[in-house]
Amino acid sequence: MNDPFGRKVDYLRISVTDRCNERCLYCMPEGYHGWERQAEHLSADEIIRLVRVAAGLGFRKFRLTGGEPLVRGDLAAIVRGMAAIPGVEVIGLSTNGTRLAAQAADLRVAGIRTANVSLDALDPGLYRQITGGSVADVLAGICAAVVAGFERVKLNCVLMRGKNESEIWPLVHFAAEHRLPLRFIELMPLSRTDVLTEKHFLPVGEVMQQLREKDRLIPQPDRRIGHGPARYYLLERTGALVGFIGAMTRLDFCENCNKVRLTADGKIRPCLGNHGETDVRALLRAGVDDVGLAEMFREVLKNKPEAHVFRDNYTPGRPMVAIGG
Ligand code: SAM
Ligand code: SF4
Repeated sequence: MNDPFGRKVDYLRISVTDRCNERCLYCMPEGYHGWERQAEHLSADEIIRLVRVAAGLGFRKFRLTGGEPLVRGDLAAIVRGMAAIPGVEVIGLSTNGTRLAAQAADLRVAGIRTANVSLDALDPGLYRQITGGSVADVLAGICAAVVAGFERVKLNCVLMRGKNESEIWPLVHFAAEHRLPLRFIELMPLSRTDVLTEKHFLPVGEVMQQLREKDRLIPQPDRRIGHGPARYYLLERTGALVGFIGAMTRLDFCENCNKVRLTADGKIRPCLGNHGETDVRALLRAGVDDVGLAEMFREVLKNKPEAHVFRDNYTPGRPMVAIGG
């Protein structure tokens, strides 16, 4: 399906929970207790039904996220249900990786093909300071995903001036050594936390400049390694493949947006950086048929905003952990 701006939208990002076992500085507000009750979350059957309708309309790529998707007990059952639907080409996972070691093999068998793992620092103390978790668990999770045969494992690092600049080169070397693509992501005003201030904002352009001081960045003709918004470069000497997600500084960032989000509590959100949402849970629980659900998806696409409004004094509503990353 195309939106009114000629963009082909075939990617649905599904948040399966708003809970998380970490508390990243840029995501989870201090003392956050805004969790929806379990009954407010879409059930596995409801998620699978929506995927079936979306696939019937031409959606091909799906990603399970959260909160932390691996805290949801029936995640593998959701994946199995989705993988059996005609038209579902790729199911990916976004995870903090801390519980991946125990679940990677089952999830791969269930049908997950790719994983994006958040890794903001390799230094154990700094990792704990940023996320509250253990980097050793994440590294074990990454290793397990590779061993389990995930087709691609990407690393995501959110850039924070004054917090993790010292980790940029170590992460690049780690990515090169393990042959895993690494993406640097600009901070977005998706929550209300101490780190989400101008002072901590580090533009991707500055990081590229820093990398250019020691290496040559060769633009990759296939910018879309995967289905995301990063621009990729090969670092000639280190051999790392590094992507940059300049959501705040790249003015053409939204031009190729191909996705829509489904929140854990059943809201369809056509743009991360606009507040508009459609309550699909209410429709589901009022007994809507599949024709009605397909109509709802078409309506959502008709109203997909042209661009995010993060630069226009955007005030975050629900925090990122509740929307789904
Ligand atoms: N828990 C999983 C994880 O951490 O990867 C999946 C959900 S998380 C919300 C998805 C992605 O959003 C992560 O890569 C995270 O780093 C990113 N993210 C969260 N808050 C952000 C913010 N304020 N700015 C930029 N990226 C953010
Ligand atoms: Fe949890 Fe992911 Fe948010 Fe970190 S970024 S608090 S791991 S949902």
